[in-house]
Amino acid sequence: MTLRFRAGAASDVGLVRDHNEDAYLVDDGLGLVAVADGMGGHRAGEVASTAALDALRIAFGAGAPIDDAVAAANDIVFEQSVADRNLRGMGTTLTAGALGIDGTLLIGHVGDSRAYLLRDGALERITTDHSLVEELIQSGELTEEEAERDHRRSQITRALGLEPGVQVDLETIDLRPGDRVMLCSDGLTTMVREDAITEILGDGTSAEDAARRLVESANEAGGVDNTTVVVIDIEDDGAPTDDDTGSTAAAAADESAEEATEPSQAAATDEAGDEGSGRRRRLFGRGK
Ligand code: MG
Repeated sequence: MTLRFRAGAASDVGLVRDHNEDAYLVDDGLGLVAVADGMGGHRAGEVASTAALDALRIAFGAGAPIDDAVAAANDIVFEQSVADRNLRGMGTTLTAGALGIDGTLLIGHVGDSRAYLLRDGALERITTDHSLVEELIQSGELTEEEAERDHRRSQITRALGLEPGVQVDLETIDLRPGDRVMLCSDGLTTMVREDAITEILGDGTSAEDAARRLVESANEAGGVDNTTVVVIDIEDDGAPTDDDTGSTAAAAADESAEEATEPSQAAATDEAGDEGSGRRRRLFGRGK
């Protein structure tokens, strides 16, 4: 069975900020989607998130596996921040999904943007936030409820572009037709509870409409941050894959498929790395 996706996206500055440092990518030909939430002084956050997505698309399009493509984006953003003093210290989150020809979605992830899977009406979070409050939840120092109100919520422990090299989490979803995957920036998840997100994602409207309504719901709740949402509906593609679009997607997906034999190993390495560096507590304030 060959799967394809139908994606819709929306992004909004919100009601408090004066510019939008979020960015998103939907590339149907490559089977690639991503959300990035930039940070940095002046307009450097916008530069970081946009540059990261451009670099991601170029690296993935050239055949890099998704986690290597995220790492390549890190190096490009870092190089730009070193080369231009106005951009020094800029960084971004990056959560990217690549559709593989074997029916998987490989997620490469750094920061506190998120990926979710809606299947049979239930919402499951796929990614783990690289944030201070997530660490405090894991160590038992904060409950989920306390974390929702914690003033340190925007402090992240890992971001793209701040130093040469970055540790990229790799997750794999074995897709089924009817699955709905969502990528979002923290502007959504800090404003809208997961049960409300589940309700909007689950009510049967198009991916485009669901993305727009999720962004609206963040603004209705106060819109204190930029909000970006990409919704991907997974469908069974009965069509032959040797047309133009299909062959492009298949070529890109083939690269992902090669990597798909290793994700569990890579994920295990990531987890071990997290344990080792969990006390490091290097925090990146977002100046918000
Ligand atoms: Mg944000």
